[in-house]
Amino acid sequence: MRKKIIIANWKMNFLLDQAVDYVNDLVKKVGNKTTVEVGVAAQDIFLSDLVKLTSQSPVRIIAQNAHWENFGAFTGETSPKALDNIGVDYVMLGHFERRELFNETNSTVNLKVRRALNNDMNVIVDVEELEQVQSVLEGVGPSQMEKIIIGFEPTFAIGTGMSASTKGAEEVAAQIRKTLRKMYGPEISQATRILYGGSVNRQNLAGLIKQTDIDGVLVGKASLDFQSFWELVKII
Ligand code: PGA
Repeated sequence: MRKKIIIANWKMNFLLDQAVDYVNDLVKKVGNKTTVEVGVAAQDIFLSDLVKLTSQSPVRIIAQNAHWENFGAFTGETSPKALDNIGVDYVMLGHFERRELFNETNSTVNLKVRRALNNDMNVIVDVEELEQVQSVLEGVGPSQMEKIIIGFEPTFAIGTGMSASTKGAEEVAAQIRKTLRKMYGPEISQATRILYGGSVNRQNLAGLIKQTDIDGVLVGKASLDFQSFWELVKII
């Protein structure tokens, strides 16, 4: 049984007070409920505070990026080891905006995935199309797959208000699972969670989450207001 998961991707939004209030509210509402996994992907600068706020809570705090090396002359970058060291054990890699605006490629995303796994972190690796799955997972061994979640986010749907159709999203998710099956066999492909992202909202979430191969969602815009995000959590 794959546990459903919903992630608020805040992107580069909020100031510290807003981030803290939001996560405090989320911690209260989620309580000890662990039937659904709820995560927040926040800017690096907030992570340390947010991790402390969630130390007794099942709410996950997720980094939005990390470098492919642990240390070195990489001015302005964030080390996955340093993230892990402050208690952030989830990182999202390969988001469309990282690829589009910061020139990340499948091969840099793959290096990042491997380094994060070497630090024993959990990774949400995003792809915009099926063809990217194999490249971003190159060199990832079967035993590491339990730390991987795949996020499928079609380019046309991110931040546009135009979600993929329920059927279209399920079709790609099923194809991704098929690819995983070829790469890792039936057991791992059945156990790996696949998320959909791209203009998820109150209208489309119920349909998406019912699909066989969609195990959760990444929510951008509709996560920026706490109440509206919480409405989505309740649907899952
Ligand atoms: P959106 O963003 O919900 O605003 O489309 C999704 C994402 O980028 O993860």
